[in-house]
Amino acid sequence: MTDRLRIALQKKGRLADDSFELLKKCGLRFAIRGGGLLARVKNMPIDLLLVRDDDIPSFVANDAADIGIVGENVLVEEQLTAKTPLDANIAMRLGFSRCKLCLAAPEQGAVKSSKDLNNTRIATTYPGVTAQYLDEQGLTAKLVDMKGAVELAPSIGIAESICDLVSSGATLEANKLAAFETILESEAVLIRSGRKLSPAKADILDKLMNRIDGVLKSKETKYIMLNAPKTQVDAITELLPGSDAPTIIPLAGSDDLVALQAVCTENIFWETLEDLKGLGARAILVLPIEKMMA
Ligand code: ATP
Ligand code: ZN
Repeated sequence: MTDRLRIALQKKGRLADDSFELLKKCGLRFAIRGGGLLARVKNMPIDLLLVRDDDIPSFVANDAADIGIVGENVLVEEQLTAKTPLDANIAMRLGFSRCKLCLAAPEQGAVKSSKDLNNTRIATTYPGVTAQYLDEQGLTAKLVDMKGAVELAPSIGIAESICDLVSSGATLEANKLAAFETILESEAVLIRSGRKLSPAKADILDKLMNRIDGVLKSKETKYIMLNAPKTQVDAITELLPGSDAPTIIPLAGSDDLVALQAVCTENIFWETLEDLKGLGARAILVLPIEKMMA
């Protein structure tokens, strides 16, 4: 038994780079070289298992990995189509790889909404989620199971509509398809099973999840510094989005001006800066925060 925490990650694809980047921001040092199944993290007792995303939920459920990073869409699909229930659940939402699983049909075709689906064919690589949706809605349609290139199904005449992942919508548009229903919204998630980890692994996971939390929080959080008339400090503090009590520092050689500094947990827009200026704030600086720990 090794006490290195094993994380299953997508080897290559739309989840992979953001997953690697998140782990690097958490301080993990590793190099991904082509071909290898396992990558060792040099500065922490962690190994990365590099696989296809579809395998990640079952690897976590079957103890090939302790945790995994996967699209919620894949997790839900694998859970719905597994022969026995998968012991893999969301431990944390990660906020990247956001996409939607949508029903779409040719712009000029007969299917305009879900109620037109009865007795038609739907092409998809997500038979589990699609079948569940049809069931819930009391609709009857035949699923055409595909492995990819689902967007071509209507034009080659094998289905009247499709159920596929959409992010920008460019692929749908290029194929003259229009989405008419969203059946699942997805983002990358950290998953784990209900198994108990060894104390050493549990410690590493705890540390990692705290760091991930810090990375996600620091994305939106900004540090703001400005000079302001003493009389306007309350009004200015009120304008700062999601900030606690600011730090107020006297300014050398000035009786009526102070320096004000605060951590804002929400994005600061140009409009807010203009309003601050309107209240007499000057020399306004907004700085990114690289790391946070409460
Ligand atoms: P694999 O070879 O690992 O099976 P794949 O071809 O099934 O890869 P990708 O296309 O790399 O999968 O997508 C992986 C995941 O990224 C999807 O399951 C989804 O959660 C998310 N995703 C899909 N499309 C987008 C997109 N356009 N933008 C951001 N994330 C996306
Ligand atoms: Zn896949």
